[in-house]
Amino acid sequence: MAKPVVAIVGRPNVGKSTLFNRIAGKRISIVEDQPGVTRDRIYAEAEWLNNVFTLIDTGGIEPESKETILSQMRNQAEIAIETADVIIFMVDGKEGLTGTDREVASMLRKAHKPVVLTLNKVDTVEHSPYYYDFFELGMDEPVEISSTAAYNIGDLLDAVVAHFPDEKADKDEDEVIKVAIIGKPNVGKSSMINHILGENRVIVSDIAGTTRDAIDTPFTDGEDKYLLIDTAGIRRRSKIKENIEKYSVIRAFTAVERADVCLLVIDSTEGVTEQDKKIAGYSHENGKGMIIVVNKWDLIEKDTHTMKEFTKEIRNELAYLSYAPLLFVSAMSGQRMKQVLETVKFVANQNAMRIPTGNLNEIIGEAVLLNQPPSDKGKRLKIFYGTQAAVKPPTFILFINDKELMHFSYLRYIENQIRQNYGFEGTPIRFILREKD
Ligand code: GDP
Ligand code: GDP
Repeated sequence: MAKPVVAIVGRPNVGKSTLFNRIAGKRISIVEDQPGVTRDRIYAEAEWLNNVFTLIDTGGIEPESKETILSQMRNQAEIAIETADVIIFMVDGKEGLTGTDREVASMLRKAHKPVVLTLNKVDTVEHSPYYYDFFELGMDEPVEISSTAAYNIGDLLDAVVAHFPDEKADKDEDEVIKVAIIGKPNVGKSSMINHILGENRVIVSDIAGTTRDAIDTPFTDGEDKYLLIDTAGIRRRSKIKENIEKYSVIRAFTAVERADVCLLVIDSTEGVTEQDKKIAGYSHENGKGMIIVVNKWDLIEKDTHTMKEFTKEIRNELAYLSYAPLLFVSAMSGQRMKQVLETVKFVANQNAMRIPTGNLNEIIGEAVLLNQPPSDKGKRLKIFYGTQAAVKPPTFILFINDKELMHFSYLRYIENQIRQNYGFEGTPIRFILREKD
């Protein structure tokens, strides 16, 4: 699901854009000539041996900068380190090793990201005359290519895709959805857990849970694997009654940290409490999927407006969780309890969703057209380009001209545009702003 990002870094004129065009071919995506969005060829979706990836030419991000080459290079390297899964570090095989190359190499080494050192402009079958000099950089053996003659590009891409995360290993880890059930004592967490586990196949584990803060129960629902992180169980097991309140919040925090999706259980007869707000805030800050479950719905006297009124009140109390689905259930009668696990699965997927760079920039471009970015003293905010750098939670890097010009409300607007197109239901979205001149 996750599409790797490959960034090309290197001094001006080493041949980055030549290689970029060579790899991207017809697939190249050009950001339309819209106000506030550059139309440089910066990124493209590319494919090699069934590996689809996003290619970024970091040199294209700031084409006519007045900065020194060294500081431009630092920016490029930073962008690559922040966004890329694999970095193609391109040097000039005709010119040999320079001080700037050494500088960049040292930055890249510190980042511990896979780097493929690439000697370009090696147009003949002979080694570059400087080939052995480059070993000084302390990187893997350089790949020699000619971007203009399209020589050895396949070897380069082989080396690049070899560094892609192993999808299978990734999958095994990702396959299990970790759910934390959190909420105050007596809201019905244990009842809910008993209901869920009663309906599904519990995998018996021989790991004693006595020493852990939370009790984990693995179970399956058809093909889907879950791990239930139960903070309520502690109380059942523990003989010590005192300090429970004091520690229950901390325990809830550690459960949240380990979870993919949190179920915040609220007692419908009580409403949202301060403790709920604290835990919800923690989950939000940690980028977890979130579902608000209003339990004991059977105890509420209802008319046609009741659910609407409850929704309004909870949305109001937990305003920053506007993305979280709300479920009204009864763990006792089982009413709507089936929806709980379905929603967990849905939210886990939303939390791990990655959207293509091209589509993201289409959304941004359109958003900018519909609603002009803010300006101050004659200077207008420009969004050059965006890329999704991470999942869990979905994290977007926006390259803009000036951070001061980006208002919270405009960022919120961009977020809403992304949500309108892609949903991201149940998950927070993060933005990282990067300044470019
Ligand atoms: P960038 O500034 O790193 O993006 O470099 P460009 O892709 O614009 O290339 C700079 C110059 O190097 C251009 O004149 C290219 O034609 C030339 N160049 C790029 N790749 C090769 C190559 O493999 N061999 C040779 N001989 N020249 C190349
Ligand atoms: P926990 O402390 O959050 O684990 O809460 P429990 O699951 O132990 O439930 C606390 C009390 O609420 C118990 O007496 C449950 O029987 C009751 N309870 C739980 N869920 C419901 C529900 O949906 N409706 C009603 N009426 N009572 C419930």
